[in-house]
Amino acid sequence: QAKAAGRNGVALFEATMLAEAECRLTLERDLGYALERGELAMHLQLQVDHARQPVGGELLMRWRRAGGVLVPPEVFIPVAESSGLIVPLGNWVLRQACVAVLRLDAAGSPIPLSINVSPVQFRQPDFVEQVRTVLRETGAPAERLIFEITEGLLVSDLDATIARMHELAAIGIRFSIDDFGTGYSNLAYLRQMPLYELKIDKSFTRDAPTDLNGAAIVQSILAMADHLGLRVVAEGIETAQQAEYLAAHGSPCMQGFLFARPAPIHEVLASLACA
Ligand code: C2E
Ligand code: MG
Ligand code: MG
Ligand code: MG
Repeated sequence: QAKAAGRNGVALFEATMLAEAECRLTLERDLGYALERGELAMHLQLQVDHARQPVGGELLMRWRRAGGVLVPPEVFIPVAESSGLIVPLGNWVLRQACVAVLRLDAAGSPIPLSINVSPVQFRQPDFVEQVRTVLRETGAPAERLIFEITEGLLVSDLDATIARMHELAAIGIRFSIDDFGTGYSNLAYLRQMPLYELKIDKSFTRDAPTDLNGAAIVQSILAMADHLGLRVVAEGIETAQQAEYLAAHGSPCMQGFLFARPAPIHEVLASLACA
């Protein structure tokens, strides 16, 4: 009896693994065509200050597969990273950001835009050259771009990472650490980086008003950012209670469904023009 169950368990496990591998391969294959098929789009989520005025925005990639199914970035970004597709996709994102910056200018709303830069993309030998090329070709000012990196980038090759950040900062690019507090990063190195901003992960902001641990983390990130002279964006603000908590504790910039959902760039631009 036990033996049979064990065998079934193994068979089930193998079937699941096979299905997952198949799914991964299919995703990878389809993602390779997604750009040319027009299945990828960039959404823009505005960030606001304490007075609810827009102070920036984050570009977020969306993949709607043929048939209409929306694949979450948490699913397809890792596939793009492990397959190397993130390099051309990330380049495309950068180009979209540059175009959007110019459109924002034209709409009279010169806010900076943030893009998520994958460690895989950042570590490409010609990354800096790629950035220069896109800036030159689009004519967008680098000063309006914020590159969001994650603590994952800071775990290894720290010296090379910092050197590259300085190279990009010299062009005018600003840097933000995304999901700050969720990964390991050597805090001593923060001072050596040309940093502009820390983004407090939504797992902390969500709990801050009701949970002592969440509150302690949020308050120590705010204190540290203040000490280092960095801008802070609190992510994932969904309730008035969370916003009030932040207003009472240093009033960082806020990003979340309470203020604005990610929406197609042209829709956000239209809303800004009407405001
Ligand atoms: P992230 O960079 O931390 O982006 C913030 C995520 O929080 C976005 O999820 C956004 O839609 C979501 N969010 C914003 N406000 C709220 C809120 O009030 N409540 C909740 N529950 N969520 C909120 P999204 O768009 O699904 O993206 C997930 C992750 O995928 C991003 O996390 C980022 O790591 C990655 N990603 C998305 N677009 C790109 C891209 O163009 N390039 C790269 N390399 N990664 C990307
Ligand atoms: Mg981000
Ligand atoms: Mg984040
Ligand atoms: Mg995240």
